[in-house]
Amino acid sequence: MARRRATGPDRATVDLVLERAQYSCEVCDGELGHVRGLHWSLHHRVPRGMGGTTSPMANSPANLLLVCGSGTTGCHAVIEHNRSGARAAGWLLSHGQDPLQVPVLLERGLRWQLLTAEGSYAPVPPEDTGQWCVYITGMDDLIPMPDRAMAERRATHFNQWSEEYQKQRDPSRDWPVPRAEVKPWPYAPADHAEALAELRDDDPEGWLLEPATPETPRVDHRSL
Ligand SMILES: [Zn+2]
Repeated sequence: MARRRATGPDRATVDLVLERAQYSCEVCDGELGHVRGLHWSLHHRVPRGMGGTTSPMANSPANLLLVCGSGTTGCHAVIEHNRSGARAAGWLLSHGQDPLQVPVLLERGLRWQLLTAEGSYAPVPPEDTGQWCVYITGMDDLIPMPDRAMAERRATHFNQWSEEYQKQRDPSRDWPVPRAEVKPWPYAPADHAEALAELRDDDPEGWLLEPATPETPRVDHRSL
């Protein structure tokens, strides 16, 4: 009788993913029980095709997430049942997407990472998180912005104001000229959302943040 072809990751790969995740669920950071398939399981970000492995990447650590539960419980079930949320977090990818290139949201939304083929995490280029801020030199101020376009507009306004202001000042005083620069948000993604919410509370008139308009819908960078 022909031996059934194994379609899952081999033991060494499973161990790599367990070590990468330090034996915690990579989605909720929860502790895992002992029984594979019950307390914890490996989720394939690009789902396996009909009949098993269709791509050499299918069982790469980059395509695997260590999650609590089985397909019907825990975070594994969350991924299966909330497909759009799972796509936004990089937990679920389409066929043709490269798991090495798409960042994944880990630890209850605390951080974005890339997964490597070697079973480690790698930093995400900040441009890829879609989170932006305006940095004011001289004042060392970091202002979160909801998107890059608004960050560019705010920086331009600030720099026009700053130049006007310089003209009115006593040129003999050697004060630094504050400049606004658009930068990727350097801190955790969750902090960006929190800082943005605080800024909206402090800024009801919309001096810093324009109200979101229906004409400019948010576009998920990964769908581009
Ligand atoms: Zn979990």
